[in-house]
Formats: sequence, C-alpha cells, structure tokens
Amino acid sequence: MKAEIIAVGSELLLGQITNTNAKFISSKLAEIGIDVYYQTVVGDNPARLDEVLTIARQRADVLIFTGGLGPTKDDMTKETIVKHIGTTLVSDDEALGYIQNYFERSGRVMTDNNKKQALVFKGAHVLPNRKGMAPGMAVEKDGVQYILLPGPPHEMEPMFTDAAIPYLLGATGNKEVITSRVLKFYGIGEADLEYRIQAILDKQTNPTVAPLATADAVTLRLTAKAQSTDEALALIAPIEEEIRAIVGEFIYGIDDDTLSSKAAELLIQNGWTISAAESLTAGLFTAELAGEPGIGASLEGGVIVYNEKVKISQLGVDSELLDEFGIVSEECAAALATSVQRKFATDIGVGLTGAAGPSPHDGEPVGTVWIGIAYKDEEPKTYKLFLSGSRNANRLRSARFALYYLIQLLTEIEGQN
Ligand code: ATP
Ligand code: MG
Repeated sequence: MKAEIIAVGSELLLGQITNTNAKFISSKLAEIGIDVYYQTVVGDNPARLDEVLTIARQRADVLIFTGGLGPTKDDMTKETIVKHIGTTLVSDDEALGYIQNYFERSGRVMTDNNKKQALVFKGAHVLPNRKGMAPGMAVEKDGVQYILLPGPPHEMEPMFTDAAIPYLLGATGNKEVITSRVLKFYGIGEADLEYRIQAILDKQTNPTVAPLATADAVTLRLTAKAQSTDEALALIAPIEEEIRAIVGEFIYGIDDDTLSSKAAELLIQNGWTISAAESLTAGLFTAELAGEPGIGASLEGGVIVYNEKVKISQLGVDSELLDEFGIVSEECAAALATSVQRKFATDIGVGLTGAAGPSPHDGEPVGTVWIGIAYKDEEPKTYKLFLSGSRNANRLRSARFALYYLIQLLTEIEGQN
C-alpha cells in the first residue's frame, strides 16, 4: 500500500509554519509498514488542490490530507475533494454531536458556519476529534482511500493515532499486530552503527530494523508484525540479541529511556548515592540527573569547581598533582571524582574536566575532556573524550557522556552483585 500526504495551507507555502504534520504522519505510517512515496504541499486554492488530486490518486492508494477542515472561507479541502471524486456532503449526527459537545465543554456559542464542520462525505467513516471541533473522515472511492484530518497538530496527532491508524489497518485487511522496540545508543555515530550491523540491516524483513539519528544519539527501531504482541516480541528478541552481541556496549536503554532516566533508575533501584564535581560542565551533569523524579533519594549534591584555586580550596585537590599533570588530565578527573565522593560521603563521585573551546585550555586541545567516576573504595575509572562541537555542544555532550559511562559502570556493578 502506497500513501501520499497532502498538506493544505498557504501558510506552509509562505514559510510561516513548518510542515510537522507530514513528518508525524510519515513516521507513524512507517511504523505500520505503509510506504509514503510523496509528500505534497498545496495552498488554500481549490483549482490547485484539484490538480494535486488528479495526480495523487493515480500514484497512491491512500491520500492523507491535513488542514482546511475549519469553518472559515479559506478552508476548502472537503468541498474540493467532494467535487473531484463525485460524492456528496451530508450532515453527520455523530459529527454534529461532537461539535455541539465541544461548544458545551468550552462554554462558547455555536454559530451557523460551525455546522459546516459536521458535513462529511456520504458513507464516510467519521474520525472523532478529541482536542478540537472539526471531525476528520475517511472514505474509499474507486479503490483509493481519502483520509481528511484537521490542520492543528494537537488535534491531528491524537486523531491520527487513535482513529486513522485503526481505520487504515482495517482497510488493508490487516488483522496483524505491529509492535516496536527501540534500542537507544550513545557514543556511536549512525554511520558506524550501520556499518557494524550491515549484515542484519541487509537481511531484515520481519522485524524491520530502522536506524534513526537525532542531534546527539542514535536509535534502532525493531518493528515486527504478527498475530499477537507476544508473537511479535518473540520475532524481535533474537534480532535484538544479534545486535547486542555486536554493538551492545553502546546500548544504554530501550523505548522511552533517556540517559538521565536510565542513570537515575540504576541509582535509585540500587540505593546508591551520588555527587559530582564539575568543571567545564558547570552543573549540567547534576542538572540532567536532577530532572528525574525521585532522584533525591540518590543525588546528594555537587560542586562547580571551575577555577583551579577552587578545585584546591573546596575539594582539597592536590595542587602538586594539578601542576604536574594539568587541569585537563586523567589525574585531575580522578581526583575530582574521589574528592567529591569523600566530601559528600556518597557511594559514587563523578568528576568532569576539559577544554570546551573555543581556545585550548591548560595546553590541551579544544574538545579534550576527561571524566572520572569513583565507586565506593574501588580505583576510580577514567574516560577520555575528543569532542568536535561548539563550546556549549561540547559541554552538554560531556555531561551526557558522563551519564552514559555511569550507566555502563553501574550496570556492570549491578551484574556482579
Ligand atoms: P481550524 O479549524 O483550526 O481552522 P483547519 O483544519 O482548518 O483547522 P488550517 O486552517 O489549515 O486547519 O490550519 C490551522 C492551523 O494548524 C495552522 O494555522 C497551523 O498552525 C496548523 N497547521 C496546519 N497545517 C499544518 C501542517 N501541515 N503542519 C503543522 N501545522 C499545521
Ligand atoms: Mg482553518
């Protein structure tokens, strides 16, 4: 089944808004295995929308429209499609009910042009709008599915997920369940990941394995179709194991996990306390952790030791050690970690030091970062980074890498206990 997404709205063509609806719909269709071959944008103009219809219905089985369902003059999506496919508009009681209900809920007065929104294609399946007024609709004509959705994303997105997807699955005669599992990676680039698991990517069918790169992380979505969720998960499991065998060290979590949520979960579940001494990140690491609910049970506090003097006066880091090895050094990161751990009497101490840029720091090139993690009375672990971003990107990535290494270390310790 091939789909085309048609976003209607002159404001899109004028560059006033971004077509996030197409992005959302495309990603959801990918999850259920419907291919999107075209995304089209057309203004609020009946003649041009008509042209688009002529082309699109020849090259797609499903046309998904967003925008132009409202009560105003420029909203003409329905009226144009109805003429094009030669059907009629009828007032739908269910839809009118939604609209009346919407006005009651919001305490506003319903005007006559609002009734226009209750008009749906004859025989259409009405898609309820939980967040707004205009209902969506879906109808099949001459073998093509027409699905009309409102423009505002906060109305369109729940309607698409809750009503349009089940409709599409029904229309495709698809009684299968589609289940995904997302593997979250850190410390590896998309190209490197794809290279290492090329053999798995090449042979993928069910589950499909789809990489996605965001600003500073990579995910792999494993999606399986089967008769039940359990069966789908059983198809995913062996492929996930194959992937873990190759690049498991870079996987820090699954599905909705973030670096900070995963680190917090490990800390809280094991009853470990933590503190941090931050130089270049100046609190970013602690702030990321503090964003997690319940972290108060583990996070004792931290210090910002930006200046060399403060590293010595506040944490008692040995000035001779700093003279000998430098501020941006393995020794400094380890000393920050153990000093803060001792000072705050926590199970874990984390130290961060580095050259964020734009100029080298203490003789070390921009992007050199050392992270130290001390766990109980074990020898502190140290990690070196070579970052290549801007000053603030480097600072944020340093904090995230510290979370990533913390997760790795805690997972290892948890496994030993
Ligand atoms: P309304 O009843 O609010 O008028 P509508 O279905 O008629 O809804 P439009 O009038 O086309 O939709 O668009 C309403 C608003 O929805 C736009 O001003 C814009 O903020 C948002 N919107 C429309 N299309 C898109 C799109 N493709 N991507 C993101 N946002 C959109
Ligand atoms: Mg409108």
